Amino acid sequence: MKTHVSTYAAVLLKRQWLSNKSFGIIISTPSGFEFEPGQRIRLSCGGHERDYSIVSAPKESDLNLCIRNVTGGKVSGFLSTAEIGTSLSIHGPHGYFTYKPSPRPAVFVATGTGIAPFCSMARSGLTDFTLLHGVRLPEDLYYATQFQQSARTYVPCLTESNKLPANAFRGKVTEYLEKHLPPAVYDFYLSGRREMIRDVTLLIDESFSDSLVYTEMFY
Ligand SMILES: Cc1cc2nc3c(=O)[nH]c(=O)nc-3n(C[C@H](O)[C@H](O)[C@H](O)COP(=O)(O)OP(=O)(O)OC[C@H]3O[C@@H](n4cnc5c(N)ncnc54)[C@H](O)[C@@H]3O)c2cc1C
Repeated sequence: MKTHVSTYAAVLLKRQWLSNKSFGIIISTPSGFEFEPGQRIRLSCGGHERDYSIVSAPKESDLNLCIRNVTGGKVSGFLSTAEIGTSLSIHGPHGYFTYKPSPRPAVFVATGTGIAPFCSMARSGLTDFTLLHGVRLPEDLYYATQFQQSARTYVPCLTESNKLPANAFRGKVTEYLEKHLPPAVYDFYLSGRREMIRDVTLLIDESFSDSLVYTEMFY
């Protein structure tokens, strides 16, 4: 990876709510800032530092992030109401959660805003992957249109919805993997909640042994 890790000044350019609990923000790409799809930035505000995966592709002119508005959250709460034009300090890029080409099929598994790094990979032209996105409700399926067009297979996994979108699965990502992923050796990329990463890793050990597992744990 040839990217240069440093601290940069950026500006909040736009905020758009994606559902009633998550929003996307667009911030200016600082001069000289480069990253690989799947990497993240560390954002500082009010003496707090938090990591956010980059949604946009390196070729895009601005940086997009997808942020869950955590109840009582210091940084997500600040970003949910900060005025457009607010100055931000970012450090990065960080992380090694990048796509590694391999002869094995790639299976991406995300929960909630854990979808962000896969979005950057897809926007960068990656298409040869299966993606499971675990959420509670259809409104939480951020970037669905993008993945319907780019993924080889895109399976929304909904845990709390009676109405299922096309090709969606009712249940957790672990249940889908157990019931529907054909036995084989894969490269798994897991991004999101700690519990999902723990449960899927255990399942991979039992049912898809010899597969590789890359993880990006959000919380
Ligand atoms: C590698 C990495 C990548 C990440 N990428 C993203 C990303 O792309 N998008 C994104 O939204 N977040 C991402 N996160 C999480 C993010 O860094 C913050 O932890 C999150 O925004 C909460 O920070 P806060 O200051 O708002 O809340 P805090 O003030 O830190 O926490 C407030 C309260 O909420 C609880 N809490 C903290 N986080 C969560 C959560 N996610 N869900 C439920 N409760 C929580 C805390 O335990 C605490 O009680 C990433 C984290 C890591 C480590």
